[in-house]
Amino acid sequence: MELDQASLTNYLVFITRKLSKLVNKAHFALSECELCQNETFAHPFLCEHCINDLPLFSYRLLHNNLLNWPAVDKLFPNREFEQLLCLAPYIAPFDHWLRQFKYHQRFELTDLFAFLLERLCESQFKHTNNCALLAVPIHIKKWQQRGFNQTHLIAKALEKKCNLDYLENALRRVDFSDSQVGQSGKLRRVRLKNAFEITNQSPQLPDNVILLDDVITTGSTTNTICRLLKEKGVKHITVLTVALTLPKKHLINFNTQ
Ligand SMILES: [Zn+2]
Repeated sequence: MELDQASLTNYLVFITRKLSKLVNKAHFALSECELCQNETFAHPFLCEHCINDLPLFSYRLLHNNLLNWPAVDKLFPNREFEQLLCLAPYIAPFDHWLRQFKYHQRFELTDLFAFLLERLCESQFKHTNNCALLAVPIHIKKWQQRGFNQTHLIAKALEKKCNLDYLENALRRVDFSDSQVGQSGKLRRVRLKNAFEITNQSPQLPDNVILLDDVITTGSTTNTICRLLKEKGVKHITVLTVALTLPKKHLINFNTQ
């Protein structure tokens, strides 16, 4: 069978359009969703439906500060920070993701956490003058053992997304101690008292600091650093975290199966 010139042209146009649609689809559908395996468009790691289903804290009545929730306010009676912004309680899938990130080097989670934290912060720091981002450091020995500091990786990603000034060398952990799991609150506080220092490698600290950590459990580590920062003249500290460990009685509004 012979194709005439017009039919051949139409056929080629049809094929070109089909290919173009396929290429566009492949471009937007970067990968499949971690939780439901559907195509992802909102983020390479999660689909829009699963993002909307995440057990995130609601800030609707909290004026951008989790400390305005009485249950959280009571958790940190002697705090040295003014604002707490946290994505979610330390429950699934965040507990699983944070362990995977920390102990199984799932670095693709860095961008997911930064993406969600950026949504949480929205643009509230973009117009804050005299403001910098700091990350809770780990001891150099632990950094060498693990090969990375997960909080530093998130801070690097957040720095770009939110256009923040990240002072990555401002804080140093000088006391090397193994995991503090199982230690009493009092013992943790004693050990933490001299665990951190502010280095001379950064310019003068700004009035406003955003202190990033991956998880807050008792808040002792965070508070120790905040106290140091306040001694150095910092006036307002926002603690920013991926997850917060909450007592079980406060988890009734979250999907915890
Ligand atoms: Zn999904």
